[in-house]
Amino acid sequence: MSDENSSEKEETRANRIYCNYCPGYCCYRLAGSILFIDAADINRMARFFKISDGEVRKRYMEGRNTFKVKKDGSCIFLSNKKMWARCTIHQARPQQCRDFPNNEPCPYLVREDLLEKIKPKIECSLRKTQ
Ligand code: SF4
Ligand code: SF4
Repeated sequence: MSDENSSEKEETRANRIYCNYCPGYCCYRLAGSILFIDAADINRMARFFKISDGEVRKRYMEGRNTFKVKKDGSCIFLSNKKMWARCTIHQARPQQCRDFPNNEPCPYLVREDLLEKIKPKIECSLRKTQ
C-alpha cells in the first residue's frame, strides 16, 4: 500500500471518530456552505413521505434549491435529541448528503474554530477508555 493510500485511510478513520462527537456541522448552514437540493432529491422525499413533489417544496424548501433551517442554522431534518442516526430522513436524504465528504477528509475539520469544540469531547472519551 502506498504512503498516500495509507494516509487517506488514516484520515477516513479519523473522520469517523470525529463524526461520533461532532454536532453535525455538515448538517448546518454555515458561512460558505449550502445544501443543494435538486428535482430527483425532491421526488425521493415525496415518495418517502407519500406526498407530492409540490407539497415537499411547500413544506420543507426555502427557495427552489435548499431546505429550510432551524433557528440555530441546522437542517430541519436534523434531530437534536441524539448523537447517533440524527438525520430523520436518512433513507431519503439528498444526494449531496449521501456523497459527503466525497471520500475526502471532512472539510469542516480543518476549521480550527469548529474543531476546538469537538476536541475536548474526544479527549474526555479517550481518558475514560484508558
Ligand atoms: S461535519 Fe464532518 S466530522 Fe462532523 S459529522 Fe459531518 S462529516 Fe462528521
Ligand atoms: S437531510 Fe439529513 S443528512 Fe442532509 S443535511 Fe439534513 S439532516 Fe443532514
